[in-house]
Amino acid sequence: LWTVIGGLIGVSATCGLYLLDSRRRTLEAQLRRAIQRDSFTLVYQPIVDLETEAVTGAETLVRWVNEAGDAVPPDTFIALAENKGIVGQITRLVIRGVIREMGAQLATGALHITINITSQDLLDPTFLPELNRLIDNAQIPRFTIGLELTERSTADHALVAEAIARLKEAGYDLYIDDFGTGYSSLAYLHTLSVDVIKIDRSFTQTVGTEAVTASVVPQILSMARQLGLLVVVEGIETREQAIYFRDSTAGIWGQGWLYSKPLIAADFHKLLQTAKSLAKL
Ligand code: C2E
Ligand code: MG
Ligand code: MG
Ligand code: MG
Repeated sequence: LWTVIGGLIGVSATCGLYLLDSRRRTLEAQLRRAIQRDSFTLVYQPIVDLETEAVTGAETLVRWVNEAGDAVPPDTFIALAENKGIVGQITRLVIRGVIREMGAQLATGALHITINITSQDLLDPTFLPELNRLIDNAQIPRFTIGLELTERSTADHALVAEAIARLKEAGYDLYIDDFGTGYSSLAYLHTLSVDVIKIDRSFTQTVGTEAVTASVVPQILSMARQLGLLVVVEGIETREQAIYFRDSTAGIWGQGWLYSKPLIAADFHKLLQTAKSLAKL
């Protein structure tokens, strides 16, 4: 009997793996076609000054609906693209899309847009020259562009630090995304020339709940103060969370469903026209 059960488990496990693997390969093929056809769309999540609630800009987030009509989460297909070494092509499409949709507004210098990049982009020697070329051709001031890099990156620290320094020298703002979820420490951050840390949504959610976890937040905030970094709080969903962070530090920014979900370009433009005046950058 046990042999039979064991055999069945073996078969179903193999089947499961096979299915997963074939689904992944289908997704990969679809993703490669999507890159070729530029089938991605962009949405922009407003970022606000928590004190005044003025819009300072937005974070660009990529969206993809695959050939089966399913919205594939960016976490899934970005990871797949990184795995296959093709994420740079998606990043370039995102940059082009931002220029197409936000270029006119960015050229006035009154808006700040962030773009998520991966360590693969960062370490690609063609990335920065290409970015410069696209941004400069569109006559967009480089300081209006922020690049978000997640700290979970496992890439070689010295190489990452060097590449970040080059992006900074070129005039872009550097954001550490999902701060607190990776290996970052004060010592680590100190060796990187970053401008902004984004406090991960998982910490935002602890406000008003477990006191133990919430105590991490004051530590991150005081660390940021010591280093003179701007803080952007991610995933603000409640008034209580907004007030907690607003009262914690001067000049703190945030984003989340409380203010706005990510918007397609047309809706973001509308919001900019009706919103309170843009915050001073
Ligand atoms: P992220 O950069 O940390 O983006 C924040 C995520 O939180 C977004 O999910 C956003 O829609 C979501 N979010 C914003 N406000 C709230 C809120 O109040 N509550 C909740 N529950 N969620 C909120 P999304 O768009 O699914 O993106 C997930 C991740 O995928 C991003 O995390 C980023 O790491 C990656 N990603 C998205 N777009 C791009 C891109 O263009 N390039 C790269 N390389 N990665 C991207
Ligand atoms: Mg981000
Ligand atoms: Mg984040
Ligand atoms: Mg994230």
